[in-house]
Amino acid sequence: MSVITNFNKINSKIIESCKIAKRNSDSITLIAVTKNATVEKTNEILNARIFNLGENRDQPFLNKWSELNNDNLVWHFIGTLQSRKVKNIINNIDYLHSLDRISLAEEIEKRADKKIKCFVQVNTSGEDSKFGLQPDATIDFILQLKQYSKIEVVGLMTMAPNTRDETVIRNCFKRLKSLQNEVQKLQLDKAPCNELSMGMSNDYQIAIEEGATMIRVGSALIND
Ligand SMILES: *Cc1c(COP(=O)(O)O)cnc(C)c1O
Repeated sequence: MSVITNFNKINSKIIESCKIAKRNSDSITLIAVTKNATVEKTNEILNARIFNLGENRDQPFLNKWSELNNDNLVWHFIGTLQSRKVKNIINNIDYLHSLDRISLAEEIEKRADKKIKCFVQVNTSGEDSKFGLQPDATIDFILQLKQYSKIEVVGLMTMAPNTRDETVIRNCFKRLKSLQNEVQKLQLDKAPCNELSMGMSNDYQIAIEEGATMIRVGSALIND
């Protein structure tokens, strides 16, 4: 299927989930995850007027960043970021979805030219293989981030486990939403936390029902 056909299908599903959740579909941003897309395929995505792109590794991101020329592009770095790679990418991205440790915040503070919009990544599934903070450690972590002038916590991010069990997935998203409420109650200047980055190809409808504002969709958009 072409990107535009996939995009139309995804759009109808977004609208359907928004209806169920009584939400406005304007409140959802679709991030096209291009980590497995060629530059050609990525250009198809841009032709479909999707301008929020997500990459998870530094070098492929930098390649696309330099090859694609479009003033509308908004770049999301969604992968785990090693501290030594911060300097390579931090001033080329618009959002970082994987802030998960103080040492990373320190490196960003050193290398960033301006404030970086960050999502704190939370491990809501309890799986060892998933990165992110334990839910119980999240509030303390965000309080510690106060001292870093270059970090703005725009929201929380999570990945649900790869399972067919909808209840398990939904509970991860509910957990993230309730953490967001806790953070917002603190009314921290540099942690408005208005966004929730959750939902991928297999679970973005559930994520929208549970409050996602940014969904990260790769295979459902680019697969033939
Ligand atoms: C790959 C990836 C996605 C997109 O996954 P799909 O299942 O292809 O939609 C979303 N978020 C992160 C962090 C990823 O690494």
